[in-house]
Amino acid sequence: MTGDGNIPIHRPDVGDEEIAAVTAVLRSGWLTTGPECHAFEEELAAFVGARHAVVVNSCTAALHLGLDAVGVRRGDHVLVPALTFAATAEVVAYFGAIPVLVDVEPRTLCIDAGAASHAAAMLAGGGPYPGVRAPSPGKAILPVHYGGQMADVDGVAEIARHHGLRVIEDAAHALPSWTRAPRGPWRSVGTTSEITCFSFYATKTITTGEGGALVTDDAAIADRARRMSLHGLSNDAWKRNAGGRWDYEILDTGYKYNLTDVAAALGRVQLRKANALLEARRRVAERYDALLAAVDEVEIPTVDDDRRPSYHLYPLRLRRARLGIDRDGFIEALRERGVGVSVHWRPLHLHPYYRDTFGLRPEHFPVASAEWRRLVSLPIYPSLGDEEIERVAGAVRDLCRRHARGRLRA
Ligand SMILES: *Cc1c(COP(=O)(O)O)cnc(C)c1O
Repeated sequence: MTGDGNIPIHRPDVGDEEIAAVTAVLRSGWLTTGPECHAFEEELAAFVGARHAVVVNSCTAALHLGLDAVGVRRGDHVLVPALTFAATAEVVAYFGAIPVLVDVEPRTLCIDAGAASHAAAMLAGGGPYPGVRAPSPGKAILPVHYGGQMADVDGVAEIARHHGLRVIEDAAHALPSWTRAPRGPWRSVGTTSEITCFSFYATKTITTGEGGALVTDDAAIADRARRMSLHGLSNDAWKRNAGGRWDYEILDTGYKYNLTDVAAALGRVQLRKANALLEARRRVAERYDALLAAVDEVEIPTVDDDRRPSYHLYPLRLRRARLGIDRDGFIEALRERGVGVSVHWRPLHLHPYYRDTFGLRPEHFPVASAEWRRLVSLPIYPSLGDEEIERVAGAVRDLCRRHARGRLRA
């Protein structure tokens, strides 16, 4: 809490139970990967309904290990939505592989299955595609569940089957969330592709401060990811300590991605609260919806009938033709009124690295290019009180009234 009357963009929801769990680990004599991580893995797998979970120190690490487990190599092409966080594409570059950007759907801002299908066909057929110099059949696709609403995983699965792509979901926003085929049964995130990666970063839906996880039904993928998360060793320190063999072998050149038991203890408490935290965020979203639906100068986020999102973000979109102020001015004015806001995100192709390295231009991904210029993420988290929600919405309405274009103002 800032205590100065400002409403921050995020406040973590960590209470006495988390503090007690962390304290118990600090007193236990075992701080790094051990029994708490093991229990967290079992509980997380059970929570989403997957066979295996591997906890690591970030979602970025989980995505890297996921791509490693499906055998991504230098020069491979991996499809990534243009509108995502840095991590989704940088992990592809770690291998010397090429991130192939794909435009997003205007409604959900998740990867557009039609555009992904076109990209995969161009790669397979040797056709021209933005940023691709030497086309070869795609290797993998990384759908992102924007704001916690699941992407069209069935559409992605069909493209993947057709073009032989491996699917790794970037579910950094999406624990918990569900999707279904029209009128089909609900399916939890973590069960809809061969690998799903979660983030427990400080601002995400559940947190360990820093942390992440990979879930899968495939024991070989889980074993590979677990081994590579700890230097490629045959036998981790806890197993050696707990009466296992003292010796180990280096089986591969792995990474240092293991989670600590301190973090896992925090994560286990957060996971038990995950559904309650979701309900609290849903309450915030519904309140914003009610307060802002009738404001002509903005569009509220839409939720598909076949999705139950995590409500990680509340991405408002400005109707710029109706406003005499642009997005950046709008954000500045909200900040002056003490409302912390953010933008998720400047699309990858509008960042210098991707623009210059791959020769990408705004018109290559028209939806992402247009939408990001009118996106404003409002604060949404469980401890946001009714009065704060009303203050945020009131500030938005007030700005819209002041800057409304094309209608009479009282
Ligand atoms: C936060 C985030 C990540 C990275 O998560 P870390 O745990 O910080 O590595 C990856 N993808 C998306 C879409 C994110 O928002």
